[in-house]
Amino acid sequence: MGFIRSRSAVAPLRRGVSAATGRRTSVVQAVAQHRPEDPMLCLRPGVLQDTAAGMVSAFTAAAGGDVLYAVKCNPDPAVLRALWDGGIRHFDVASLGEVRLVRQMFPTAILHFMHPVKSRQAIRSAYFQYGVRDFVLDSLEELGKILVETDDAADLGLIVRLALPKGNAVYDLSGKFGAPEGEAVALLRAARTLAPRVGVSFHVGSQMMEPAAYERALALAARVIEEADVTVDIVDVGGGFPVSYPDVTPPPLGDFMDAIARGLAAMNLPARTRVWCEPGRALVAAGVSLVVQVMRRKNDVLYINDGVYGTLSDAGVPGFRFPARLVRPFHGESDASVGAFSFYGPTCDSADRMAGPFFLPADVREGDWIELGQLGAYGACLRTAFNGFDQVRLVEVFDPPLLETPGHGMAGGAARPAGHEADAGASVRVA
Ligand SMILES: *Cc1c(COP(=O)(O)O)cnc(C)c1O
Repeated sequence: MGFIRSRSAVAPLRRGVSAATGRRTSVVQAVAQHRPEDPMLCLRPGVLQDTAAGMVSAFTAAAGGDVLYAVKCNPDPAVLRALWDGGIRHFDVASLGEVRLVRQMFPTAILHFMHPVKSRQAIRSAYFQYGVRDFVLDSLEELGKILVETDDAADLGLIVRLALPKGNAVYDLSGKFGAPEGEAVALLRAARTLAPRVGVSFHVGSQMMEPAAYERALALAARVIEEADVTVDIVDVGGGFPVSYPDVTPPPLGDFMDAIARGLAAMNLPARTRVWCEPGRALVAAGVSLVVQVMRRKNDVLYINDGVYGTLSDAGVPGFRFPARLVRPFHGESDASVGAFSFYGPTCDSADRMAGPFFLPADVREGDWIELGQLGAYGACLRTAFNGFDQVRLVEVFDPPLLETPGHGMAGGAARPAGHEADAGASVRVA
């Protein structure tokens, strides 16, 4: 059972190679081979690599800038390796654990410590042991900590994180971090006297559906820079780039890049200003799917072997839906009509419930496997060991991403059952 590892293991992963044949495998082949009774994560290194290369080239074209991968989104070494192979060289790290992991894998990677509230030990180790030079801050206290713990280093990059007004992203990140405009002005001035490189950053919120949000945030950044009356070396537009989920089709990435280019053009920055972005979700969501097994069917409810304390926490609250397909390697495809199902996870907690609805052939039954797509972001890394469900199998596959429920696609899928129209768009609440 060499593929099975506990959630805490960070050992290098097996490649997606079938032990029997030595060849890369497909999701269906992996299910047939392993008959997995634990959840099985299906990594798509090729998809991850292509997505990274696409983002790097789009952001280079729009802003001539650097793409920092936000490691918290998925720190799996196989994911990091695929992104590196796609051209990612910069990493947005938020903890000493992430610093160590990335530095150990990639000695030449450039790490940026983008958490506005760091422990003193993390700052000190990051600077002296791991070569981190860029640190974000949103308070005078944090600025003081950075100076003390780096022994007043003369080679720092100090980035001031701006607070944004509450936006309309699915995950609003405006409340926890960021300096209000007036404080940001003071921090930027102070940083300018202390560091050879200073900058501003923000995060418009994750799964941001509105390109103009970046333009508005850049206008705020421009105001802060002007009021501070300093030049900046770095403008960091953060993460938040959205991906598709069932019934949620975001504007194309190019629209976001255009908005960023417009926002930057309006700032009249010196030509040498570096522009960064920090995507997480958009780089990795499509690169991983999850295969679960049905342990019991009760009418339209399926009891499955993964849930909100495992890989599917976003399917609980805020209630994301994920594209789903039945995987039945031993009986041929189902030709049953489509039904709408909700899921219960394996733990004994009644909150371990995923309302969906998830659309599957109506004859789905105990023992069937289901593949759920778009789970590379904020999925596997949020698994807990609650109730003893701590095992997950990992395989690498060559399948394309599972973006849509078969026969139920966003582009006019025919098999949508009656009575669920009211749910359209409800899986991602844009409040
Ligand atoms: C989480 C996070 C990101 C990544 O956000 P996505 O919405 O996944 O793109 C980027 N930067 C910071 C500072 C973050 O906390």
